[in-house]
Amino acid sequence: MVYCQGCPWGCCYCHNPQLQPGEAAGAIAWSEVLDFLRRRRGLLDAVVFSGGEPTAQPGLAQAMRDARALGYRIGLHSAGIYPRRLTEVLPLVDWVGFDAKAPFDAAYERITGVRGSGAAALQSARALLASGVDCEFRTTWHAGFLAPEELDRLTRTLQELGVRRYALQEFRAGACLGFRSEGASVAADVDVLLRRFGEFTLRSA
Ligand code: SF4
Repeated sequence: MVYCQGCPWGCCYCHNPQLQPGEAAGAIAWSEVLDFLRRRRGLLDAVVFSGGEPTAQPGLAQAMRDARALGYRIGLHSAGIYPRRLTEVLPLVDWVGFDAKAPFDAAYERITGVRGSGAAALQSARALLASGVDCEFRTTWHAGFLAPEELDRLTRTLQELGVRRYALQEFRAGACLGFRSEGASVAADVDVLLRRFGEFTLRSA
């Protein structure tokens, strides 16, 4: 897993808030990562670019080409913040874990703190599904930041878009500096989700 620095959104439940700034101490040069990957050839199968938001990196496509040239398969975690950049790297990617946060309207902005974030994420989701790249859509959930009715609306939309593989990840406080859960969240209606998607996974907190 390669964790990329930088994300322009500020989700209340961000699991890696230290990666939100564009630069931070302790960064490792890509040339060093490549040296590591050269040494691990034959031992590792894939490189997953995560973050932060990897598509915030102008050098992402070249980094993917470098890793592919060494024989690695490529994974990408993205929240779909930059639809055009995501579209550009999709031909280099074998699998995408797509973070779908809320119905693609004002609810998105409430979670990310950024106007227009829902429209960008929806555009990216469409581009990903149109590309045919293997993918999983996933939502981090606690009823304290996403009402059950909103989760229902989001998953209905994802089903209509053609999402086949979906995971619901119950919120874990972990390194999160924003949202603090008070007590247990309302349980999700798992039966509905099982009916909506060909493959459904519940990742419990
Ligand atoms: S999009 Fe991801 S990395 Fe960016 S703030 Fe939200 S949870 Fe954190």
